[in-house]
Amino acid sequence: MLVGRSVAVKRNPDNVERVSTDAVTMDKIVSLCRRRGFVFPSSEIYGGLGSTYDYGHYGVLTKNNIRSRWFSSMVQERDDIVALDSAVILNPLVWEASGHVEGFTDPLVDCRTCKLRFRGDRLEDSQCGRKPSKKPGETSDCDLTEARQFNLMFETSVGALVEGGSKAYLRPETAQGIFINFKNVLQLARRRPPFGIAQVGKSFRNEITPGNFLFRLREFEQMEMEFFVPPDDAERWHAYWIEARLAWYHGLGLREANLRVREHGPEERSHYSLATSDIEYLYPIGWSELEGVANRGDYDLRQHTEASGTKLEYVDPDGSRYTPFVIEPAVSIDRILLALLVDAYAEEVVEERQRTLLRLHPAVAPVKAAVLPLISKAEAGMVEPARKLYEELRRDHLVEYDDGGNIGRRYRRQDEIGTPWAFTIDDVTLEDGTVTVRDRDSLAQERLPLEGVRAWLDDALERPWSPPQQH
Ligand code: ATP
Repeated sequence: MLVGRSVAVKRNPDNVERVSTDAVTMDKIVSLCRRRGFVFPSSEIYGGLGSTYDYGHYGVLTKNNIRSRWFSSMVQERDDIVALDSAVILNPLVWEASGHVEGFTDPLVDCRTCKLRFRGDRLEDSQCGRKPSKKPGETSDCDLTEARQFNLMFETSVGALVEGGSKAYLRPETAQGIFINFKNVLQLARRRPPFGIAQVGKSFRNEITPGNFLFRLREFEQMEMEFFVPPDDAERWHAYWIEARLAWYHGLGLREANLRVREHGPEERSHYSLATSDIEYLYPIGWSELEGVANRGDYDLRQHTEASGTKLEYVDPDGSRYTPFVIEPAVSIDRILLALLVDAYAEEVVEERQRTLLRLHPAVAPVKAAVLPLISKAEAGMVEPARKLYEELRRDHLVEYDDGGNIGRRYRRQDEIGTPWAFTIDDVTLEDGTVTVRDRDSLAQERLPLEGVRAWLDDALERPWSPPQQH
């Protein structure tokens, strides 16, 4: 493959002073997301709406990349998982059978003094409204109510349903849409256990204590895969999926030191779970659940069989039948995006100038490369070859062209959105047909022949990548 002749390394700075991730705070991430148009508070011109966010251009691009990596690893690169896209609003009987109407609740505690609401099972992690350094209930002023169960499902109404009135729910997880389609997939996709069904889509939860930016939203995009297995194999597959998902996060470039697996204690498990392990990430709020990998047993298929009268079981060609167990890796794109941003965020001083950058894995970076003419005046002759290169590269990749402002400012802008490479067209290009490629992480610069840039970029995007700095 033509990867371009490397003519000279212009600069390979060893005077780069780096700050550690201790400097990463949620406020810095929120501010960068806002400044660079990744994420905006939703309904902002009307004062916002708690814990809902709108994704801007770079947020959308990054989320698309995360989704497509997940989908590739779950469906495209395997023989045993198929895709599904079920409705958000299901027959309300689904949520009765699944146990969500009865049990998808969190304990809600109000403070009569400061008027704040807390999750009764998370008082330890909460802050009293009056004395920020104290936990709710710790000061003599605190006046907490008894905990009462609060259902997290959003209610809505649908036309005129014959049964169950018109009340319906926005789904709090995508999984139930998969279970109720089990028979369709089994028959039409001609699968036998072990096999899985993968789905990506919005879920909605009326969280009691939302907050922490993208970590706990009322509306989020879940990626769930239900893997149906013979009951005797469930433990083995559970262990398999925990390992597979952890490896997937390493492949996304998240630092190993910032990831861990934590097994739930019996009191912590959801009503359907036989065993759950969380893959946790070290967010600025401390170790918290990134993804849950649950062994749901045969709970869901049995509940729906009983409630609907449709047998959701596997019948072997030899006539034996059983209800499969289900292993479920479940995560939201939003929590992955937040983990990636936290992991990638860095501040450096280079040649006495401060830069903020996102060291994102090139596969998830919203923009793969920038094409920059050093001088934007048409007479300088750099705009035309730069536009030509840009148009060539954008056939295959999301790239940006930028000719506004001084070159240093343009580099810094690309650093902040995590663009791994910048190709600069300068006066040497006009003489010998080479361009400079600048590496976001090392800041090394080399020259490549213009006609080799496309192949160089294809090749660079295929190279393995790991975070250059462990912290
Ligand atoms: P938590 O204990 O943090 O409330 P959970 O155990 O209720 O999470 P699950 O029901 O296991 O979460 O949901 C599976 C995944 O969906 C989570 O690991 C997380 O990635 C994502 N998720 C759940 N709730 C939210 C939310 N409110 N905002 C963003 N993502 C969420």
